[in-house]
Amino acid sequence: MSHTVKCEIKCKEHNICFKSPIFFGTPGTFTSAITYGNIVSCPIGGEMIPCNKDNMRFQYRDDNGRVFHEEGKDTF
Ligand SMILES: [Zn+2]
Repeated sequence: MSHTVKCEIKCKEHNICFKSPIFFGTPGTFTSAITYGNIVSCPIGGEMIPCNKDNMRFQYRDDNGRVFHEEGKDTF
């Protein structure tokens, strides 16, 4: 099975989602990224947004082409 993962960050201040500049290949690397405390800047306001489970969204695509969205969860 091979999944494509797209990661989006949500800016709660501007109520938008934008594609993360940080590449997360798997939920495992996602966890590593959290450990290292990555910060991204909002494309609208430029404010710094810490990447955490509350404001990240992932897009998975399975072998049949179906797309799944998953909000950040504690189960990673
Ligand atoms: Zn913003």
